[in-house]
Amino acid sequence: MIVVMSVSASEAEIEQVVSAIEAKSLKALMMPGGERVAIGIPSAIPPEIREGLAQELGALSGVDHVAHVSRPYKLVSREFHRADTTFEVRGVLFGGSRLHIMAGPCAVESYEQMSEAARAVKEAGATVLRGGAFKPRTSPYSFQGLQEEGLKILKQVGVDAGLVTISEVMQPDLVELVGSYVDILQIGARNMQNFPLLVEAGRSGLPVMLKRGPSATIDEFLLAAEYLLHHDNHQVLLCERGVHPLDRAYTRNTLDINAVPVLKEVSHLPVIVDPSHGAGVSRYVPALALAAVAAGADGLMIEMHPHPKAALSDGAQSLKPEQLQELMQRLRRLASVVGRDV
Ligand code: PEP
Ligand code: MN
Repeated sequence: MIVVMSVSASEAEIEQVVSAIEAKSLKALMMPGGERVAIGIPSAIPPEIREGLAQELGALSGVDHVAHVSRPYKLVSREFHRADTTFEVRGVLFGGSRLHIMAGPCAVESYEQMSEAARAVKEAGATVLRGGAFKPRTSPYSFQGLQEEGLKILKQVGVDAGLVTISEVMQPDLVELVGSYVDILQIGARNMQNFPLLVEAGRSGLPVMLKRGPSATIDEFLLAAEYLLHHDNHQVLLCERGVHPLDRAYTRNTLDINAVPVLKEVSHLPVIVDPSHGAGVSRYVPALALAAVAAGADGLMIEMHPHPKAALSDGAQSLKPEQLQELMQRLRRLASVVGRDV
């Protein structure tokens, strides 16, 4: 429910609405707008008091009207927060007109591999360095990541290259550890609905990129993001990374390009697209990256490995450094057409 105040509402009238909401043990969320203030009630309102409360609030002086929120998610919704969310991570502003490209290998494998990767990422003009240290692998026999040692390497090469860093955290009790090494926590597709992890990442207050689960609906995705905001973390990036495909004969997943304009319409959070996991095949990555930017994405996450054939994970979908360089040039040309810059 959102209480929209009239343009001339006084501070006292606003305060009266807040008190009336809090008197019902509900949270009142101030939503300053361009010319008028609105007050949102993000929590679930017990059905037996909903109608009465709407009438009571609608009758208070200074109230223009009371609107019912149609979506199950609240804080991530544009109904609650009309303007695009922007936030800065070590000088990198997400959600603004500049597109941010996150690039790097699927997994941190060694200091040499990461320093080569960081150089290539920097030279290409990307701003964020990725590298998984705790890897969610389908098979227990696959490379599981270098864990804390990998985080140390990522941090070191990130600082040396002047790049913001991002790495995945898979379990709640590791949020603090991962957060002590990286600038942005990644919550992977498989953990999108790991609720204790969402709570812990929310409480950490650190920037989080939440990836959409391969079978998650848009509502499930946004309700997962709602956990982060509900725990007072508003530095959240939404990442579309492909959903289960009809068949795997050609691609690993199906990149849901629809999700980009849909998420931009219903949510104020920045939207990042990962065409690497979306396709699973490196030669399709550039086309999907361009499509994502044309569709309105605020950034991209691209897997790039100095030597993809030798990669310990996701080599088939990783660009070579020179391919990333070339893609960045194409992205720059496209960005100027769609009113963005890279
Ligand atoms: C990754 O980014 O390497 C990764 C495992 O991604 P996802 O969670 O989207 O599969
Ligand atoms: Mn990967």
